[in-house]
Amino acid sequence: MATIFTKIVRGEIPSYKIAENDTHFAFLDINPIAEGHTLVIPKKEIDYVFDLPDELLGETLVFAKKVAHGIDKALDTIRTGIIVEGLEVPHAHIHLVPIYSVSQNVSLRNKVDVTEDRMKELAEIISAEVKV
Ligand code: AMP
Repeated sequence: MATIFTKIVRGEIPSYKIAENDTHFAFLDINPIAEGHTLVIPKKEIDYVFDLPDELLGETLVFAKKVAHGIDKALDTIRTGIIVEGLEVPHAHIHLVPIYSVSQNVSLRNKVDVTEDRMKELAEIISAEVKV
């Protein structure tokens, strides 16, 4: 059965899309730990990130780098952090977490409230700055 992230790529489940190319997709995390928290996935369904073939892993990181630079440009970050956990969704993904202050809690358990309108706005302003 397709993963929830594959369903997002196919447009069967809505998402706040940030960027896409032939092999990768980026969208806002629906339960963010910071405004602009973004997930980057390879379209290929592989559960564990360290099971990605070397070339695909490299491409995933390069795609994530481009998205992270877009986040930094669009939002007032000091940088964007990267977290890989993968305990919830069995489809490899990288969390890109905009960091706004050195004291920010960047734990994946530290969810913040972001309204639907703000999520739409964040997707618009970040995607406008991402060139993949
Ligand atoms: P983990 O697998 O622990 O790295 O976390 C999976 C992440 O996917 C969590 O941060 C969820 O909030 C996020 N997530 C789950 N379903 C969706 C969805 N439909 N749209 C966006 N993000 C999602």
